[in-house]
Amino acid sequence: MGDSEILEDTTRSTGREALKKNVQAAIALAGAIRSTLGPKGLDKLLIDDDGRTLVTNDGVTVLETAKVEHPVAKMIIGASSLQDKIAKDGTTSTVILASEMLMNAWELVVQGIHPAVIARGFRMAEQKVIEDITENAISGSEDLFKLAAISALSGKGHDSLKQTVSDLSLVAGNYVRNKNGKMEKEKIKIISQTGSVLEHSEVVQGLVLAKKRIDLSMPKEIIDGSIILIDGGLERRSFSSDMKLNVTTPGVLEQFRNKEREMLMSQVEHLKNLGVNVVACKEGIDDDVKNELVKCGIQAFRRVAKSDLDLVSMSCGATVVNDVMSATESSIGICLSSSNKMLGGLEHWVVTGDGCGATIIVRGSTVDIVGEVERCFDDCLGVVGQMYDDGRLLPGGGASYVALARSLRRFAETIPGREQLAIAAFADALEVIVRVLAENGGLDPIESLISVVAKQTSENSHLYGINLYNGEVEDMMANGVIEPLGIVKQAIIGATEASISILRIDDVLWAKQDIEIPEVPQ
Ligand code: ADP
Ligand code: MG
Repeated sequence: MGDSEILEDTTRSTGREALKKNVQAAIALAGAIRSTLGPKGLDKLLIDDDGRTLVTNDGVTVLETAKVEHPVAKMIIGASSLQDKIAKDGTTSTVILASEMLMNAWELVVQGIHPAVIARGFRMAEQKVIEDITENAISGSEDLFKLAAISALSGKGHDSLKQTVSDLSLVAGNYVRNKNGKMEKEKIKIISQTGSVLEHSEVVQGLVLAKKRIDLSMPKEIIDGSIILIDGGLERRSFSSDMKLNVTTPGVLEQFRNKEREMLMSQVEHLKNLGVNVVACKEGIDDDVKNELVKCGIQAFRRVAKSDLDLVSMSCGATVVNDVMSATESSIGICLSSSNKMLGGLEHWVVTGDGCGATIIVRGSTVDIVGEVERCFDDCLGVVGQMYDDGRLLPGGGASYVALARSLRRFAETIPGREQLAIAAFADALEVIVRVLAENGGLDPIESLISVVAKQTSENSHLYGINLYNGEVEDMMANGVIEPLGIVKQAIIGATEASISILRIDDVLWAKQDIEIPEVPQ
């Protein structure tokens, strides 16, 4: 049986043809988000199946929302999502870089160079970039961190938004740094309140939950409390509809109720014996349990989401228990303080523990505005986390990419094989960032690139890039367009990985279905 019979229900493209189609898919994908890059990038209006709309400037949000079917495009979106997970920022850059690398690789393939050789050259270039980039990095100070946090928000809103978001992100990040100085981002909670203005947003040390204590006569504040977290409730079980209870003698139902009450009271007794004075449970608390808790001076909260219980658990060192009776002293956590505070006119539960935790309260006039600001916080916190983790910074505005490309070209000259051409192609691809930044800023991309290269060469400095606020080639460190080393490095690594794996594909077998290759934008 020949190939054609076995693969009857399959569309197949091999070799060059396969690569060409894959490169086209990558170019189309990058084309979709190219115009969002940088401070002058434009926004996209996304509309989902249900007609809900979202205006965003964030590359990965656009790609993840778009229903992309092409498998190669999906691989690149994967690289961008990974960037989002690891570094938070630099997601658009990753896609643009990957597509440019593939486009340049394709030109070499057309000239007769085998994709495996190109992949090898790309790998060598990646290694060289990793060495160089670390050398170029500068150790940051608090002032530079602030500038980098603002740079991460370029193109995402007005100046006052950038100030507020970057200030609050740095404060929140500081609250959740562990002993090694690393920021534990998962300990930051973001809550939102509409009906106010962004400038009234705030950071509170500890976790803030939109919950009231269940009875006003419970203590308002408990210092150095012992807290229990219950993944359930302190309430009678409700009868399920298909349950049958045969009552044969008078008083059985009463006895049944009394027994249940007894069991609940013994749970409260157990809590008292454990020395608990703060209780939080996922489900409800019955009235007679509540009265007993009030009598014992215990503060209690009900209907707390499981995710919030987990956050409190991290912060106070309590384990979330399923069954109160099996709770032991080791299940109990310590809260430095557990209090009820008025925030934005509403009562909130604020709990602080040894394991820190911080809450950002985002305020804005409408749900849409608050939503976009929350995404800004997400980006900014990612960048702040990178800086608290590593602290090394690079000049932005394309400066670092141009510097790396210059060094790569010199390196390529020392490589005798055909890989030399691939390394040079990789260097060209890195320069795409400056070109696209300039293009989006209404400048001539080629001229801008040439002026940056010329300035870096004449000043013998890697700090010069294009400042889109005035269109000048400037020292980006001095003018405050700065980005964390980790973000640029991860963008280049992610793009290289994606392009190499796509280069290695030389046979595409499609089960017969109607997946179209996206059109290449002109
Ligand atoms: P990404 O999703 O890749 O982070 P952004 O839209 O956030 O994309 O753009 C980031 C790029 O914009 C970085 O290369 C950064 O250096 C650059 N940038 C930020 N501010 C400026 C500026 N004032 N002038 C020039 N480039 C800038
Ligand atoms: Mg960004």
